[in-house]
Amino acid sequence: MTATPTLTRTLPKRRLTGLKPTGHLHLGNLLGAIRPVVDAQYQAETIVFLADLHALTVAHEPARVRELTLEQATMLLAAGLDPDRAMLYVQSQLPEHTELHFLLECATGVGEAQRMIQFKEKSPAQQQHVRLSLLTYPVLMTADILLHDAEEVPVGEDQSQHLELARDVAVRFNSRYGETFTVPRAVHPEVATRVMELSDPTSKMGKTTSSDAGTIFLLDPPEVIRRKVMRAVTDSGRSVEYTPQTRPGVANLLEILSACVDAPPDTLAAEYATYSKLKRAVAEAVEGLLRPIQLRHAELTRDPGFVRRVLAEGAERARDNATDTVHRAKRAIGLLT
Ligand code: AMP
Repeated sequence: MTATPTLTRTLPKRRLTGLKPTGHLHLGNLLGAIRPVVDAQYQAETIVFLADLHALTVAHEPARVRELTLEQATMLLAAGLDPDRAMLYVQSQLPEHTELHFLLECATGVGEAQRMIQFKEKSPAQQQHVRLSLLTYPVLMTADILLHDAEEVPVGEDQSQHLELARDVAVRFNSRYGETFTVPRAVHPEVATRVMELSDPTSKMGKTTSSDAGTIFLLDPPEVIRRKVMRAVTDSGRSVEYTPQTRPGVANLLEILSACVDAPPDTLAAEYATYSKLKRAVAEAVEGLLRPIQLRHAELTRDPGFVRRVLAEGAERARDNATDTVHRAKRAIGLLT
């Protein structure tokens, strides 16, 4: 009898993040998830995947999912992801994600899935009509993370609860069946961990959930960015102060500026006498941040074959570790391998 293999790897930290091809990427995605992985790619082993299976958990158009998958991959490269260093691939091209998903469903309670805020936000009446996969998608996300022994998962604050589930499932599986998975932890950027909609600073900027006017898409031209920022909802106050509880609109603008210029939001608040001066600075900073990304994006779209090759090679490189993890989990849980 062979003993269940245990984890002895002491490699540098491994970071993983995923993006769902349900809409165009926006500033929240860039600041909350993309930049933290790109910035750390030479220090940590980096894995980024396009979560196309997650895109199927809500009403979707098949052709659009395919199109957005390529668009987001192109955007990640344009944002500086180095394909020679990081592994970039499409989730559905690595069947180990779904194989591990099933094994982990056998270590997750129905109640745990039902407690997830994103599912609970649907009223009981709506829950009857949502896809079953929307209930189980946090378990697929757990599989995505555990598959790669990821130690750190850079995500926006909206994903904290899902990360907690991944940790709980990993710990439970390990204690029931023997050390199998690395227990991951979420990493959030210091600021802009939850970029809010410009036209409604009480709701999160999202690909499909927020209004066009309140969302800065990464491919928005400079004049559109300026218009959206200048029209951002603030409040009736006059002085610029960083008080997220009472002035969420101004705080959101200061956080965006802070992430762009790398200075604390309260220090920045003191530099602007009026809201309109602050807004002009934010628009300029965001334009400056996005300009090189947009230029690189335009270059990359001239050669779609390149992006497809990167994705195919990324899946190939990610496969070894994924196969190894699934094998380890199958043995531990009692399957013949
Ligand atoms: P999604 O847009 O759901 O595919 O999320 C992709 C990544 O971007 C996840 O890590 C999210 O936590 C992050 N993210 C999405 N929206 C925001 C936001 N408004 N602010 C900060 N991070 C975000």
